[in-house]
Amino acid sequence: MGDGTISGSNRDESVYTGSSDRGDDSRSDDNRRNGDDSDNGNDDSDHGHDDNRGYGDGWEELRQQTLRRDNYACTRCGADDRTLQAHHIVPRSAGGPDELENLLTLCRPCHGVIHQHNSAFDDVRDDAPLFPERTAPDPVARLRTPADQCCTRCGAERSDPTELVAWTDVPASDDARPAPPHVTLCKPCAGLLLECDLACEEAALTANHTISVHELAARRPDASVRPSAFALSQVAVRREPRTLRERVVDDTPLRFLLNHRGVRLALLVVIGYVALFVVLAL
Ligand SMILES: [Zn+2]
Ligand SMILES: [Zn+2]
Repeated sequence: MGDGTISGSNRDESVYTGSSDRGDDSRSDDNRRNGDDSDNGNDDSDHGHDDNRGYGDGWEELRQQTLRRDNYACTRCGADDRTLQAHHIVPRSAGGPDELENLLTLCRPCHGVIHQHNSAFDDVRDDAPLFPERTAPDPVARLRTPADQCCTRCGAERSDPTELVAWTDVPASDDARPAPPHVTLCKPCAGLLLECDLACEEAALTANHTISVHELAARRPDASVRPSAFALSQVAVRREPRTLRERVVDDTPLRFLLNHRGVRLALLVVIGYVALFVVLAL
């Protein structure tokens, strides 16, 4: 950024459009006319194009203001050489206003990351980087897919991208299924995998921040004792239990009963009913 491309006379969208992205230009033009935001059909809640709320005359000016404020770069990944669009933080379909504070600049692939269910972005979503920039504002600071946002070993969802690392270079599993290009891990699980004698090595870990092996090692005790039932075999290692609770609950099938609030509650209700029944029967 900061080079001469962004002079006042150059505020034409085509300037900010990657030349290799030709096929997309017409679409982005369409989008601009329909409301560049592509909140047309945004998210699952929306029903197709926002036909009943046309983008008014002020939209183009507002869109330009948004791009200018964000230095003509995607606020999620920092790209400044792709088609840039204005994204509504609160979607128009949910009453989000056409105001600068409700808009963020996103490149098309990252826009697709934020609108996971909008098929208009299906062709470009995979081009978005896995991690958002460290500086990405909260509303767009997400990994590429919701699955990436969950640890592949323990299954825990992490909303903060700096709590996740990606393991590239995952070896193929024994069952001949192709290895995924990457898996994400929460920091405690990453610490555990580094400690185990597996293929996972520090050099194969990436993130949007500097990874500290010491931090990962220190977080290791927080990893779940058992991997989730859905964990990939390459990451499905057990941690040695340390406390009595870990030995009796977390390392046995009891964990399915006692580690989930919903199940615990249901269990209490059943016990309560049985007790009441016994008392009434006496
Ligand atoms: Zn981007
Ligand atoms: Zn984990």
